[in-house]
Amino acid sequence: MKIVLATRNAGKIAELRRILDGFDIVGLEEFPSIGEVAETGVTFEENALLKAHAVAQGSGLPAVADDSGLCVDVLNGMPGVFSARWAGRHGDDQANLELLLAQVSDVPEDKLTAHFACAAALALPSGEHRVASGTLPGRLIRTPRGTNGFGYDPILVPEGEERTTAEMAPEEKDAISHRGRAFRALAPMVETLLTT
Ligand code: IMP
Repeated sequence: MKIVLATRNAGKIAELRRILDGFDIVGLEEFPSIGEVAETGVTFEENALLKAHAVAQGSGLPAVADDSGLCVDVLNGMPGVFSARWAGRHGDDQANLELLLAQVSDVPEDKLTAHFACAAALALPSGEHRVASGTLPGRLIRTPRGTNGFGYDPILVPEGEERTTAEMAPEEKDAISHRGRAFRALAPMVETLLTT
C-alpha cells in the first residue's frame, strides 16, 4: 500500500522506508502540485497533523508527516517549534545554533539540559489520524563538535554519551533519535489503520 511522506528530504524517506517495511513510501516529489504547508501550529503534534492532513487531502493517499525541534530546559522548552527559524530565517542552521549558544552563555554547563522532540502523524484522506511522539534527552555543549547530521546536532550530547549526535554515524543516531522513536511508535498504528 502506498503512503506519502510529507517531505522532499531523501534521508527522511529512506529512514521511514526502513521502519515501515512492507509499505510503498513515496515522497512529495511525486506530487508537484502540493505546495509547502505553513507550520502555523504551536506544538509539534499540531504541525505534524497540519502537514499530514494537507498531503492526504492533496494526494488522496494516506500521508505521514513529522515535526521536530530542540527544547532547552533553561529556555522553558524553546526554541521548540521555532527551532528551524530561531534566528529569524527558516533553515539557517548556523545562525540558529550561534544565537542559542549566545542566549545561554552565562548558564553553567551542568544546567544545560535539553532534548530533541519529534511528533509523527498519519492522516487518511477520510480525515482519520494518529500521532506518536519521541524524544532524545541530553545536554548542550558550548563548543560545537562533529560534522554529521544537521541543525543543532553539533551541540547536543545524548544522555549516557560523550559524543554529540553530529559525531555519531547516521544509523547510530537513527537508533536512538527522537525521529526514529516517533516513527517506530507510529509504525504499529499505521499497520493497524491501513490493514484492518
Ligand atoms: P523540521 O522538523 O524538519 O521542521 O526541523 C525542525 C528544526 O529542528 C530543524 O531545522 C533543526 O534546527 C531542529 N532539529 C530537528 N531534529 C533535529 C536533529 O535530529 N538534529 C538537529 N537538529 C534538529
